Amino acid sequence: MTPGDAIVIGTFSRRMRLRLADGREVDARIRGKRLRPVCGDRVTAQEIPDEREWLVTAIRDRDNALTRPNMRGQIEVLAANIDLLVVVAASPPAPDWFVVDRYLCAAEDMGVPAAVVFNKSDLHGPAFPELQDYEAIGYPTVSCSAHSGDGIDRLQAIIRDKTAIIVGQSGVGKSSLINRLGSDARLRTGDVSERSGEGRHTTVNSMLLGLPGGGAVIDSPGVRDYAPALESETRVIHGFRELERARHDCRFANCRHLREPGCAVKAAVADGRISARRYESYKRLLALTTRLNSP
Ligand code: GDP
Ligand code: ZN
Repeated sequence: MTPGDAIVIGTFSRRMRLRLADGREVDARIRGKRLRPVCGDRVTAQEIPDEREWLVTAIRDRDNALTRPNMRGQIEVLAANIDLLVVVAASPPAPDWFVVDRYLCAAEDMGVPAAVVFNKSDLHGPAFPELQDYEAIGYPTVSCSAHSGDGIDRLQAIIRDKTAIIVGQSGVGKSSLINRLGSDARLRTGDVSERSGEGRHTTVNSMLLGLPGGGAVIDSPGVRDYAPALESETRVIHGFRELERARHDCRFANCRHLREPGCAVKAAVADGRISARRYESYKRLLALTTRLNSP
C-alpha cells in the first residue's frame, strides 16, 4: 500500500485514530518509540497488510503546538496545528483570571488567535468586568451557557472553519460546551477506548471533533488542571499584548517593568490604560517563569 497523508483525530496512549485524505477514519499504531503524534498532527500513514490497523511513519512539520511541562519538567505536546485557542472561565468555580492570562500568554507564544468564553451565563447576572479588559485589548469574548444554549451561536461563529482547542480550569464546562456545539464527543471517546481494548475508565485521550456547522474542536484532558509555562522570561512580556505594545517606550530596552525608572508599562498601569489586574498577572507569571527556569 502506498503511504498517504492523514490527520490525527484521536490519541490513546500509543494508539491513534486517523482521518485519511479520502475521509475514511481508521485506527493506527506508531512506528518506533520516538514518534509522538498528537491531535491535529498531519502524519504519513500506511496500511499494514492483513491487519485492521494502519501504521504512522512520520509527522509532518507542525505550524504550532500547545505544550506544557510535565511532572518531570519535560515539555509535553498537547495538540498541534491549532487555528484558535478558546479559554473558558465560569462562575462557579470562582474564576481564576491568572489561569486565563496564562493561556492567553501561551496563545501569543504560539502565534495563535485566542478568544475568552464566559460560560454558565444562566447562573449569574451582568458580565464580569474582566471580560471588558479582554475585549479592550482585542480578544473576542463570548458570554454563554452550555445549559440554556444562550450565546452558543456566537461561539459557533467564532470557531467556524477553524480547528480550536478548548482550555480552562476544570469545572468551567468545557465538555458541556463541546457537547452543546454538537459534536458526538462521548460516543467517540467510547469508540477509541473500546477498539484499543483498554478499560474505558482509565481512558486518557485527546479527540479532534468535527462540528456540524464546520470547524473542529480539540478536547484534551491535558488542559484540565494545568496551564502552560513559558520557556524564558523574555517570552512573558510578549504574551501580554498590551504590555508588549507599551514596552517600546520604556527607557531601557531590557526593562522588566518592575522597578526600573522610565518604565512606560508602569506609567500606563498608573493612568489606567493598562489593567492593573493584567499587570499583576504579568508579574506573577514572570516570577513563576524565573523559578521554573532556574536550575
Ligand atoms: P469541564 O471540567 O470544564 O469539562 O466542565 P464540565 O463540562 O464537566 O462541567 C462541570 C459542571 O458544570 C457540570 O456539573 C455541568 O453540568 C456544569 N455546567 C456546565 N455548563 C454549564 C452551564 O452553562 N450552566 C450551568 N448552570 N452549569 C453548567
Ligand atoms: Zn518597562
